[in-house]
Amino acid sequence: MTLLSLSEQAKQLDQADPLASFRDRFHIPAQPGRAVTYFTGNSLGLMPKNVPEYVNQELNDWAQWGVEGHFQAKHPWVSYHELFPSLLSPILGALESEIVVMNQLTVNLHLLMVSFYRPTTKRFKILCEGRAFSSDQYAMESQVRFHGLDPDQSIVEVFPRDGESFIRKQDLIDAINQAGEQLALVLVGGVNYYTGQLFDMQEITRAGQAQGAVVGFDLAHAAGNVSLQLHDWGVDFATWCSYKYLNSGPGGVSGVFIHERHHETDLPRFQGWWGYQKQDRFQMAKGFVPIPTAEAWQLSNAPVLSMAAHHASLRVFQEAGMDRLHLKREQLSALMIDGLIELQSLHSGKFEVLTPMEIRQRGCQTSLYFSKGGRDVYNQLEKAGFVCDWREPGVIRLAPVPLYNLFSEVTDFICCLDKLLKA
Ligand SMILES: *Cc1c(COP(=O)(O)O)cnc(C)c1O
Repeated sequence: MTLLSLSEQAKQLDQADPLASFRDRFHIPAQPGRAVTYFTGNSLGLMPKNVPEYVNQELNDWAQWGVEGHFQAKHPWVSYHELFPSLLSPILGALESEIVVMNQLTVNLHLLMVSFYRPTTKRFKILCEGRAFSSDQYAMESQVRFHGLDPDQSIVEVFPRDGESFIRKQDLIDAINQAGEQLALVLVGGVNYYTGQLFDMQEITRAGQAQGAVVGFDLAHAAGNVSLQLHDWGVDFATWCSYKYLNSGPGGVSGVFIHERHHETDLPRFQGWWGYQKQDRFQMAKGFVPIPTAEAWQLSNAPVLSMAAHHASLRVFQEAGMDRLHLKREQLSALMIDGLIELQSLHSGKFEVLTPMEIRQRGCQTSLYFSKGGRDVYNQLEKAGFVCDWREPGVIRLAPVPLYNLFSEVTDFICCLDKLLKA
């Protein structure tokens, strides 16, 4: 397929796109004189235009009610977090009782490992993907040390084979089976932040649990991006952030999923008053009585201002509908793949695609690796108005997203990269 015919195809897809009007629901950053092409939704999603209305509602209620806003606000703050499970349930494929929005992502990773990483002398290993996000590596290391164990002995990382850019599913499964009875926890990023590889979470869950391990996922790059069925897959736990694909603003509130089979068990957990049974939380009595859902893991009362932005964004997701978003994501991704295949035949050897080309192993993100000259290409792309991101040692990450990117932005990018590689 030529670049010209791809551009024609993009125009037609844009014209027929049932989600086209959603682009106007977002603030698109501009450089002097022009709007940019924003391909960094994997890092910080753009701001929905309804955010000020939602945040102002809480500011106004605070001004009007003071402390009584906890009960008198339009969305009473005491139960503000209860707005989220019904909105997140279709995004995560989870029961409402399995979801609670709270804290920040790395904090939640720790809280979840308190409950779900319970090493014994025999069963103590954590298995993760090689090149897991730094914060996840630090969290796992410190949890292992916290139990008096040695990270080198306890953390198993599975890497791509030599000369390959992403991890073979079978290699992950084999490593799980090999760790066998020593395996306490499998903790994998559902979509890897660096390569954009989407893992088969259902199969990883099955394999880990078959060895008697607990299986959890960091969905920072998966939530709001790829299709998830956490409940049906039987995943034990998961956590994510809301500021990447979920467009809820810098440092936005995180959330966790805890499978219902773990509710009302005697799993150890760190406790706070917000996890206490609601009807008599304000008795402030001694002795913790947990809420019988994922909410039991809450510690603190809700950060309402940050949650208001999350609420605004999730209303946009609700209107767009996950089925339409997934369909458009796959179409955007397929267009990107077709363009890159064409570029590879025109400029063989100039760059490598780190992300799997197969649609079921990828979400919005594509990672390109340049063994030399990558930084120049990146700078030129920025100059041409493409906001993408740079990771040492030579990686450009791009993530066209279905809510606000156009098909023609993908083909414009491909044409621009073609010109830069010719020069
Ligand atoms: C973005 C990201 C983080 C960031 O953690 P915060 O606690 O939100 O700062 C952690 N892990 C992964 C996999 C990420 O992609």
